[in-house]
Amino acid sequence: MLKIKFLGAAMQVTGSRTLVQYNKSQYLVDCGLFQGPRMIREQNWQPHGDLKNVKALILTHAHIDHSGYIPKFVKDGFGGPIYCSEGTADLCHILLPDSGYLQEEDAHFANSKRISRHVPALPLYTEHDAIESLQYLKPQPMDTWIELERGLSFRLIRSGHILGSSFIQFSYDSGHGSRLLTFSGDIGNGRSLILKEPIQISETDELVMESTYGDRVQPKGNVMGQLRDIINKVLKRGGTLVIPAFAVGRTQEILYMIHQLEKTGEISKYDVYLDSPMALDATELYMKHGDDLKSEVIADHTVSTLTCARFTPVRTADESMLLCMNTDPKIVISAAGMLTGGRIMHHLKSKLPDPKSGVLFVGYQVEGTKGFLLKNGLTDIRIHHQNVTVEAEIFSSDSLSAHADSNDIIRWINGLNKKPSKIFLNHGEKSAIEALQYRIKYELKIDTVIANPDEEFVIDK
Ligand SMILES: [Zn+2]
Repeated sequence: MLKIKFLGAAMQVTGSRTLVQYNKSQYLVDCGLFQGPRMIREQNWQPHGDLKNVKALILTHAHIDHSGYIPKFVKDGFGGPIYCSEGTADLCHILLPDSGYLQEEDAHFANSKRISRHVPALPLYTEHDAIESLQYLKPQPMDTWIELERGLSFRLIRSGHILGSSFIQFSYDSGHGSRLLTFSGDIGNGRSLILKEPIQISETDELVMESTYGDRVQPKGNVMGQLRDIINKVLKRGGTLVIPAFAVGRTQEILYMIHQLEKTGEISKYDVYLDSPMALDATELYMKHGDDLKSEVIADHTVSTLTCARFTPVRTADESMLLCMNTDPKIVISAAGMLTGGRIMHHLKSKLPDPKSGVLFVGYQVEGTKGFLLKNGLTDIRIHHQNVTVEAEIFSSDSLSAHADSNDIIRWINGLNKKPSKIFLNHGEKSAIEALQYRIKYELKIDTVIANPDEEFVIDK
């Protein structure tokens, strides 16, 4: 008997958790945090009765919406193995403690402003809880079957979304032969300049598919040319180009692009500062996991292709503050990517009033964030209780997404030699998920259902 139950990322994009029940045993695919507005985040505090008997956890990748609930889960008593790829385990060592730190900061802030309905406001988990939970990570090699119990095994297959990201494929004994159930996790689009593309698997009997960009086709412009023009425009007039970036993935892509543009002489050798300890750690991990990277990225072992000629890592808060005061032409990459806080806010406070400078958005900006507002033409912004006038030029590029778009997903499913008998759609907002369901049903003629929150499906009786 095999059942799956969607405990999160059903009709939404965060809180990825799917329970897999095989006979009497339970396993959990991903253990993500609900993120976004308060109404969604409050789901992290709901009791998780369904998770009490979970024997093992398996992760598709390290993004917090897929891994960020682990410390809470462990704190509440889970002590089983957490299987994932080597890259995912390494990234979790950076991302989970940081998430714990942010939870503590949020609780501290709520208490100081008395804005929580709970007094005192408590963190969901602390940095210490997160560090404790890391001991349960059990990294596994890719493409290797691992037996969970008699009749049930799984393997990880590269999905090309971020470092270490993988599809999870279960092989289960159905009583009349073995069958395959595959979870896509987040799937890459094959257009990353540094990561290898997602592997085209050849068969699966059932498929759980993400739908983040199910209603969109990404612009496929010349990203490198765009970046070249923006850098030249801002730096040649003596300004600073500030790039708010996500620490894992986007930052490394941009660093590689700058390296390439320098190498081909399309831009001069400018000062490039990476002002984010987490992004610096993640960049080191990318270089360590050569297996996930394209051959041209690791081809030149003498120089790191993820740094450039005049690259400066900025680790301490003091160095970061000094950099804010620096008025020389330069490129500054800093976090948080959606301007939800962090060092980037100091750089913006210093450079937004400067008409020579520029800000380049390279990632998805959630509605309501300062990043969204600035990208959409806000002329005055409040940073650290001060009004800041926006004189700098605002640029954005939407071609650098780490997700597959609607066409990529259809192409990948169509590439299966043996098509699944059923597809379950999760990890998408309503419009995206419905658009994707329509396309799969009518273009590929495969039975496709949308998973609702807490909905259970019997896969095999
Ligand atoms: Zn992801």
